[in-house]
Amino acid sequence: MNSDIIQRIEIWPVDIPITDPFVVATGARVTAQNLFMRVTLKDGTHGVGEAAPFPEVGGEDRASCLAAAQKLAAGLIGHSAGDYEALADHLTEQAPLFPAARCGLETALLDAYCRSQRLPLWQLWGKADVRERETDITIPICDLDKTLALSRGWYTQGFRLFKMKVGTDVEEDIRRLQAVHEALPGISFIGDGNQGFSREDCIHFAGRVKQFGGRLILLEQPVVRDDLEGLHAIRHLTGIPVAADESVRSLDDARRVVRMQAADYINIKIMKTGVIEARRIADFTRSSGLRLMVGGMLETRIAMGCSFSLVLGLGDFDVLDLDTPLLLSTDPVIGGYRYQGPRLLPWQEAGLNMQMAVPTHCLTIQ
Ligand SMILES: [Mg+2]
Repeated sequence: MNSDIIQRIEIWPVDIPITDPFVVATGARVTAQNLFMRVTLKDGTHGVGEAAPFPEVGGEDRASCLAAAQKLAAGLIGHSAGDYEALADHLTEQAPLFPAARCGLETALLDAYCRSQRLPLWQLWGKADVRERETDITIPICDLDKTLALSRGWYTQGFRLFKMKVGTDVEEDIRRLQAVHEALPGISFIGDGNQGFSREDCIHFAGRVKQFGGRLILLEQPVVRDDLEGLHAIRHLTGIPVAADESVRSLDDARRVVRMQAADYINIKIMKTGVIEARRIADFTRSSGLRLMVGGMLETRIAMGCSFSLVLGLGDFDVLDLDTPLLLSTDPVIGGYRYQGPRLLPWQEAGLNMQMAVPTHCLTIQ
């Protein structure tokens, strides 16, 4: 029984270059500046986790995330990994404003626990929908030529759902979508405004895309996160489903969105809330009759594998935005789920089933 006691936690920074600059309405990135973590249990079982702080979204940068993770890790030593639910709540109480730090520790803890129990992480959530799934692909904000070149490249690899980052210049956004629409048959769009549109801009944007025949299946967070009335109006005036992303960073946020009828979808991201809270928001979302989308920050397959485990285990996720490992220039882990073009292939082994090298000098808490 005591074999799942948390004995040691190692944390280290990783810099992973992004193949093409990742520009969205709220900022730009050329490198994923994340933290990796490894939890070791008393029986020697390891679990891996990742924190991908995204200052533009959560206000958490890597330095503050590392400091928070170090402090939180110290409080986990000596506890049983099987108490992951209570431990997650404890982490939230201690560091409500550091969801990425909490998410990394929770992921490593859950992975270690599932490995010690010899069950795949998705089985912990219920193994409701264990099958291959397809992800969208994200096209960052960039000029027309680059937009076309990137889109053509992904299209050749089989991608058909294009998540277009928009929200800085509505006329240019319309031109970019129209160019991609005319170049590539049989595709659909998600327009992700990252809070950059005004209500009027968004309605204009949706109308024009409809006019040129573009298939816009989802408008993601077109306006600022507190403007739930704006989201509500956009749903009704455009007739296009709206996904709340930045508007939902907690279960209370999700309740507000439901109360205001502000969205059709909630975008679940473990990096915004931690893993256990993400599961609760997902449960609440579907019990309220809203639909589920899943996404991430700039994450490797570690964090994204944890998100994919929710998809496989909980079921009912309609829209998968689990593409960021494909935007990175290297893959730092082996094992786990795999990509085949736009498809994510599930794994059957324990935990996340990922291996990675641990540097000799890293922060060790024991
Ligand atoms: Mg988004």
